[in-house]
Amino acid sequence: MSATAVDRLQEIRDRIRTATSEAGRPAGSVELVAVSKTFDADAIRPVLEAGQRIFGENRVQEATGKWPALREAFDGVELHLIGPLQSNKTAEAVALFDVIETVDREKIAEAIAREMARQGRTPRLYVQVDIGEEAQKAGVPPREAAAFVRRCREEHGLAIEGLMCIPPVAEHPGPYFALLQKIAAEAGVERLSMGMSGDFERAIPFGATSVRVGSAIFGARG
Ligand SMILES: *Cc1c(COP(=O)(O)O)cnc(C)c1O
Repeated sequence: MSATAVDRLQEIRDRIRTATSEAGRPAGSVELVAVSKTFDADAIRPVLEAGQRIFGENRVQEATGKWPALREAFDGVELHLIGPLQSNKTAEAVALFDVIETVDREKIAEAIAREMARQGRTPRLYVQVDIGEEAQKAGVPPREAAAFVRRCREEHGLAIEGLMCIPPVAEHPGPYFALLQKIAAEAGVERLSMGMSGDFERAIPFGATSVRVGSAIFGARG
């Protein structure tokens, strides 16, 4: 690993560029979401100074503590919620995040729709799919995902633009990435958030439009 987060950021950008080109996809078609969870503002600032603008956080409360001040200091920040959303945190999440990647049940879809109307804000939305059907993981089961996207659109008026998944650890992720790509086609969804520090290059040939990379940029989480 390179010495600083900024060096590592540059390496990750280069690797994304190479993987995108090797997959025969247009340059710039894969966005980097830098996952800054557990890292404080001092650790994040150099990465902002290096030009990174899209960040992922997995806790509403933690993000609310550090991002408003960083946003004052840097223009054009785009914040993604990538962790589970509790319904009592929906108002805060709708107020803070530009993208909520973890819509995973009816009750949350309904609460988000209500808050969007109340606040007049329209965060972009992804449905999280429990791609490996793991009991401990959040997300809609693969078989129900397309129908859930349809209900979000038709019953709650939510414009779902993408799907997100976290494949089971210690398994080859390729088949899971392929399955998410297939579900997206079935559901009529354009964007795919898949691939993390250990496997983002594998997600790109399967159509990832964004990869969520944390430890390979910021270092190991304590
Ligand atoms: C923490 C996290 C990541 C980043 O994981 P790394 O392995 O550190 O890159 C990506 N996606 C989600 C949903 C996460 O919670």
